[in-house]
Amino acid sequence: MTEATPASLAACRRADAADPLAYCRDRFQLPQDTVYLDGNSLGALPRAVPGAVGRGIERAWGHDLIRSWNLHDWIDLPRRCGDLLAPVLGAAPGTVMACDSISINLFKLLNAALQLRPGRRRILATSDQFPSDLYIASGVADWLGPDRAELVRAEPDRLTGEIDDGTAVVLLSQVDFRSGALVDLPALTHLAHSRGALVLWDLAHSAGVLPLQLERDGVDLAVGCTYKYLNAGPGAPAWLYVAPAHARAVQPLQGWMGHAAPFDFDPDYRPAAGMERWLTGTPAVLAFLALEAALGVWADVDMQQVRAKSMRLGALFADQVRTRPALATLQLRSPPDPARRGSQLAYAHPEAGALCQALMDAGVIGDFRAPDLLRFGFAPLYLRYEDIWHAVDTLERILTEGSHRQQRFMTRPRVT
Ligand SMILES: *Cc1c(COP(=O)(O)O)cnc(C)c1O
Repeated sequence: MTEATPASLAACRRADAADPLAYCRDRFQLPQDTVYLDGNSLGALPRAVPGAVGRGIERAWGHDLIRSWNLHDWIDLPRRCGDLLAPVLGAAPGTVMACDSISINLFKLLNAALQLRPGRRRILATSDQFPSDLYIASGVADWLGPDRAELVRAEPDRLTGEIDDGTAVVLLSQVDFRSGALVDLPALTHLAHSRGALVLWDLAHSAGVLPLQLERDGVDLAVGCTYKYLNAGPGAPAWLYVAPAHARAVQPLQGWMGHAAPFDFDPDYRPAAGMERWLTGTPAVLAFLALEAALGVWADVDMQQVRAKSMRLGALFADQVRTRPALATLQLRSPPDPARRGSQLAYAHPEAGALCQALMDAGVIGDFRAPDLLRFGFAPLYLRYEDIWHAVDTLERILTEGSHRQQRFMTRPRVT
């Protein structure tokens, strides 16, 4: 049963007192006087990370030097982190590898998918995918040439009709990065399979906030990053998932870390038997140490509770924006039903850029997506209902006073 959405500050405080995930907040180092609604872009810092990275630098690198590859098992960090991630994704151990970025992992997996479906050459994606995903897919098509690959961009409402017997792989995000709209992952996976196509899911805005069941749902291939809801820090390694049925697929970025025996220094490439074949070069060890420590946060977390709290935090924000007259100029661009969106809300406003900066100045951090969207993400492990109330109060105050119209909020920063 879903609980009622709090409708007052006192009700928010009661909801916080009864929150089964309240114990998680203390696992993060959060700045005072800040309400952080951008955990969907860069997750907050887990308390375990600075010590783990510091020890990796001082003791391992500083003292044990190159011996650390064996002594501290640096060499297995990509697999170890993959195995820590697997339960969060509903994946079996040994099917997830942490490595590279989403973009690079997409390049590997799209090539693999095309090889797994000989005779089919279409990569099908909707036109609203994250731009980097489309760039990579069109790059793969250019690279392989028209005889072997073609990118087809479907309008979102035309997707299902476009999956045909020429489609090798359907590339989709479960959660739309702008609006947060959620698509039906099990149903689309099933539909693609019924037409002989594979699915490659981008789970950048899903992992760590939605209860995923990659194995049960028959997902073929998936990618995601770890710096959003998984809190592993800026530029943290991404991950990829390959279903056991496709374990023998090969990827084109053949580097020594993907070789069956990297330290044989064999001049000929032979892919590793297991998931190591998806690796390419040397892992970014310091970033992996942060990732490993950040993943420790999830050991005892119930993803159903995460989803329930995520929906309730979002519903609280949306209800308050809808009912306060000063906020009537904000237009909801996310599905109104919390069950049909991920963990974020998007609002269109003609002054969204300046509003975003004025909010940050007042300690409420969201983000701006050109041309006119304000985006707010709700990371259930460290946000309180009270924080949401405070954020809406701040937004209301800024819009009532017009304080976002100051000159200093008018120039768009380089990174938004
Ligand atoms: C954040 C995000 C990415 C980022 O890709 P990188 O190559 O890791 O920078 C890709 N896809 C989606 C849907 C995202 O939200």
